[in-house]
Amino acid sequence: MKARPWVGILAFQGDFAKHQEAFAKLGCFTQLVKSSWQLANIDCLVIPGGESSVIDRFVKSQQIADPIKEFAVTKPVWGTCAGMIMLATHVENDPLIAPLGLLNITVDRNGYGRQYDSFVDDGEFTVNGRTQKLEMVFIRAPKVTSVGEGVQVLGKCRKEPVIVQQGRVIATAFHPEMTNSTKFQEFFLSLL
Ligand code: GLN
Repeated sequence: MKARPWVGILAFQGDFAKHQEAFAKLGCFTQLVKSSWQLANIDCLVIPGGESSVIDRFVKSQQIADPIKEFAVTKPVWGTCAGMIMLATHVENDPLIAPLGLLNITVDRNGYGRQYDSFVDDGEFTVNGRTQKLEMVFIRAPKVTSVGEGVQVLGKCRKEPVIVQQGRVIATAFHPEMTNSTKFQEFFLSLL
């Protein structure tokens, strides 16, 4: 890994500034990404939480879906919450969203309920056979309803899969950028 990698954060909508803060704490450079040419100089990409329907609209209008898919062939991509929805192969209850299909999972958009049902809880996160506790913030989160071939479940909360990985592509149903811990960001950077 480079001493100071460039972390790109898709910045059409959502909590991209929170992701920026967390990676800056770890000494990374950050680049807000709004056009496909900005993918050229970054080492990895984050798709933040927000509103997947809005992010999807920008992805279409900026024609950045194919460039992101190409990027993901060689570089790590991490999606949180709405970002997880964008990375999935299937979105159960929103036919208008055209997900990128980089993670072989099906998600139920808002599967944990509405804003009122948002919650913080401790979950488990397993890397290289070591399980650790992680504080997880869920805000109108997607529920992973099926995990397809090639996908590993790295984390669970309330018995549900909430961290999934397929090669260099990972997704969290929750928001690590909203806690003080940077454990998850460090794991993401370890994929570089
Ligand atoms: N419910 C939102 C969606 O469907 C995701 C919420 C979030 O990213 N915190 O896109």
